[in-house]
Amino acid sequence: MNKNIAVIKGDGIGPEIVTEAMKVLDKTAEKFGHSFAYEQLLMGGCSIDVNGVPLTDETIEKAKAADAVLMGSIGGNTSTSPWYKLPADKRPEAGLLKLRKSLGLFANLRPAVLYSQLRGACPLKEEISAKGFDMMIMRELTGGLYFGARKTEEVDGVMTAVDTLSYNENEIRRIAVRAFDIAMKRRKKVISVDKANVLDSSRLWRKIVNEVAESYPEVTVEHMLVDNCAMQLVKDPAQFDVILTENMFGDILSDEASMITGSIGMLASASLNETKFGLYEPSGGSAPDIAGQNKANPIATILSAAMMLRYSFDMDKEADAIENAVSAVLNEGYRTGDIMSEGMKLVSCSEMGTLIAERV
Ligand code: NAD
Repeated sequence: MNKNIAVIKGDGIGPEIVTEAMKVLDKTAEKFGHSFAYEQLLMGGCSIDVNGVPLTDETIEKAKAADAVLMGSIGGNTSTSPWYKLPADKRPEAGLLKLRKSLGLFANLRPAVLYSQLRGACPLKEEISAKGFDMMIMRELTGGLYFGARKTEEVDGVMTAVDTLSYNENEIRRIAVRAFDIAMKRRKKVISVDKANVLDSSRLWRKIVNEVAESYPEVTVEHMLVDNCAMQLVKDPAQFDVILTENMFGDILSDEASMITGSIGMLASASLNETKFGLYEPSGGSAPDIAGQNKANPIATILSAAMMLRYSFDMDKEADAIENAVSAVLNEGYRTGDIMSEGMKLVSCSEMGTLIAERV
């Protein structure tokens, strides 16, 4: 298969980690008889330096024309970089928000996996971490409280602020369909998280999720209240396969889930639209403190590339091969600085990429 991938290396460690992901993709293409063509695009601080804006319309069009986008990270040191002296809508992050919006990316996928080899980094009690966990959080990204009407005004002499949480059935249905599709590629269990004991939007959410579930008889569906879910994530994370939830709950729960894995350099993410198109990027930022030193952990970006193969290109075997290669390298004791522990072998960003590519 031939695929066109738009590549946004971005700022800070972005170019280093994306280069390693491309190394692994090239090896995968060679092994499985595919060809990946890359078009490199500028976004973030590097685009400000060249074009005066963090994202140009031309870049948006080129990203749209690709089969998927692979991204590193954007932004610099927010205290010292001149990019942060610019008005908010001209800063690096404005480019990413605009790109997500222009591409209609409404579904955010964040896997939280505890690798047995990195169990020591998990902050949970050993009896809980010993069971391991491998979950996928599917968060609605373009609706709900963060996008509803808001105002702050004085009412009868008292300052009052209002935010609106609104979802329509179409917004809920399209993300629920995505979550069930993804569950079919995994352990076939969806836990939909809401606050249906209080919120109307959650009651509609639950109703539509149940309707969608009827089309997926192989998938088990359960509903869980968000407060309970926050507790269950630290009490028994092994119970989760796919967590489906709305924007704000997903924002909070996905950070909680990433925290219990203990290592930001390992966390992949994807944002999808209604087609197979997606933007794939590590969950971490541009890490200006270690940029340019060949020290960053490229695994989150490599695992994001594996997600691109699985979810945008339907290349499940190829994605498995990359994920297994990551596990193999960890089993052999290779570690970048962020996940280093006693007795392990410290490697650079580029060495880690090469080791993984060799094991695909
Ligand atoms: P950060 O995630 O860049 O760094 C936090 C800490 O984690 C740092 O100590 C860093 O060295 C470490 N770290 C992050 N990724 C790592 C990796 N792959 N390997 C090893 N260590 C890693 O967060 P920050 O310092 O708060 O933000 C820095 C910049 O990144 C800011 O400009 C911020 O706006 C931007 N940012 C961008 C994105 C994105 O591009 N999607 C996301 C978050 C933050």
